[in-house]
Amino acid sequence: MRWSSAFIPTRRDKPAEAETRGHELMLRAGMIKQLSSGIYSYLPPGYRVIRKLEEVVRQEMVRVGAQELFMPAMQPREIWDETGRWDKYGSNMVKFRDRNNRAYGLAPTHEEAVTDIVRALVLSYRQLPLSLFQIQTKFRDEARPRFGVIRAREFSMKDAYSFDIDEQGLDRSFQAMFDAYVRILQRLRLPSIAVEADSGAIGGTGSVEFMIPTGTGEDQIIYCDGCGYAANIEKAVSRYEPYYFDGDMLSTEIVPTPHASTIDEVSAFFDVPAQRFIKTLIYYADNTPIAALIRGDHEVNEVKLANAVGCQELVLADARTIEEITHARVGFAGPVGIDRIPIYCDDAVPLMRNALTGANQDDAHMINVNYGRDFVADQVLDMRRTAAGDHCTRCDGPLRVQRGIEVGHVFKLGTVYSEPMHATFAAEDGSERPFVMGCYGIGISRLVAAVIETSNDENGIIWPLEIAPYLAVIIPTNVDTPQIRDVAEKMYAELCEEGCEVLIDDRAVSAGTKFKDNDLIGIPVTITVGKNYLSSGLVEYRLRTGALAAIPEETAVSRVCDLSEMLRNQSERYI
Ligand code: ATP
Ligand code: MG
Repeated sequence: MRWSSAFIPTRRDKPAEAETRGHELMLRAGMIKQLSSGIYSYLPPGYRVIRKLEEVVRQEMVRVGAQELFMPAMQPREIWDETGRWDKYGSNMVKFRDRNNRAYGLAPTHEEAVTDIVRALVLSYRQLPLSLFQIQTKFRDEARPRFGVIRAREFSMKDAYSFDIDEQGLDRSFQAMFDAYVRILQRLRLPSIAVEADSGAIGGTGSVEFMIPTGTGEDQIIYCDGCGYAANIEKAVSRYEPYYFDGDMLSTEIVPTPHASTIDEVSAFFDVPAQRFIKTLIYYADNTPIAALIRGDHEVNEVKLANAVGCQELVLADARTIEEITHARVGFAGPVGIDRIPIYCDDAVPLMRNALTGANQDDAHMINVNYGRDFVADQVLDMRRTAAGDHCTRCDGPLRVQRGIEVGHVFKLGTVYSEPMHATFAAEDGSERPFVMGCYGIGISRLVAAVIETSNDENGIIWPLEIAPYLAVIIPTNVDTPQIRDVAEKMYAELCEEGCEVLIDDRAVSAGTKFKDNDLIGIPVTITVGKNYLSSGLVEYRLRTGALAAIPEETAVSRVCDLSEMLRNQSERYI
């Protein structure tokens, strides 16, 4: 490709909308253009990378025996009603009506569609196991689209689905997919951690996420150096320092606390640590108010709480609702004497003796509150947010927190889709049994962003060779000098002839601009033909992060050919 006619709209300035370094580089390298919030076009250099990454993923899927198919994004409401997910996905799903007023959705994921295929066309255990995958556009009306294509509303995903006779079969299919994900991430040179995860709207019996550790990730990973335990904070469990307060249960009392409503103020007022306080939070679970009780020094894990309640959306109630329910200003809620709403209580709370709470009166707190005697909860559960410094439940080692980007998620579904959808096969003994399923997602566009986020320097992107938009660029420093131009053109023709992915920077701009642009978009090999060539007959060969070597032009050409050949062999090995 000739730079002079290529559509690679690079930018020097930092775009105002860039939220992270990776987002900035994608915009500056001319890879993406936003059309609307969370909705992006991929421009030619960006789309080349997407296509290459798809190919890496495709090869690894085929290698574990999965077969590619393609399912529709536009889907009738009926199949989503069969599993109850039309309502469960709520406003995250893009929904609309067709000209005949029938309800449709744009699929955020494809469990229903693939199960519909398999229940119709796979009838016998002899056709199992079966793994199917597609690379397709997904639609999710995310509440907070962010960081460019990392959290978009329209994005590309590889999703795979396995169908087995029994749990043992699922274990094998799951392991094969897990290993495929590990290989994909290795080929992309992405360091990753596999963590226990919450299964969210997909459901099933257990799931593992693949996280790329990076300071700008939206997810938080809890991990233990001692035993290797690692989990998404949404799911993580831990042992916390118990706080025992011995002594007899005393009588409750309401104490005026005129200027104290926050935990810190109340702790200072009574001169007791935050551990003695029960925080009472009022939430809207979908549209129902609930109370959540947690020890003063702990935080609520809203995912654990939402799972226990069984709701889609959990949001803190507004001040007016809190005042209506507690009959007091915000800051004075407590479990004793609150209006009758469901109470969810963290399992640390019943262990507390003579605790402090809000009194459900303005400017007042209640002391000597005891679980069982003064209040009970509708449900006691672990809803605590694990924090750095907590202890590992397996080995008691200290837990650490690290931010990360979730790039893949693999689930053991069991029969949560096949049962409600009546997807069964004839087993060897003649009985009809539901398929035992797994599903496996990896974000294609998010992976590209994760690579850039974690692999760059002050000059631009550093690509793993397999997905770089071009392998090499030839830079004639001055296109007006015939000798320079001719040798650059000759090398370009030779490399094109050999099937190498090469650019020639034939623009009439300064050499400095050319170097800057090519480093920004991250071309792995730069071959410069400049003044040196005129004096020594040598060209300069440089890897994106390596030192410069002056070598004869034929050597430079053969080095690029060798690299290109190596990449081709590498991917052929995987087919
Ligand atoms: P998240 O927790 O980040 O919202 P999820 O758990 O809902 O993701 P899955 O349903 O597990 O996502 O989807 C599989 C993969 O698809 C994710 O691991 C991620 O790589 C990608 N993905 C999910 N949502 C988005 C999005 N909004 N934009 C880009 N990629 C996404
Ligand atoms: Mg996930």
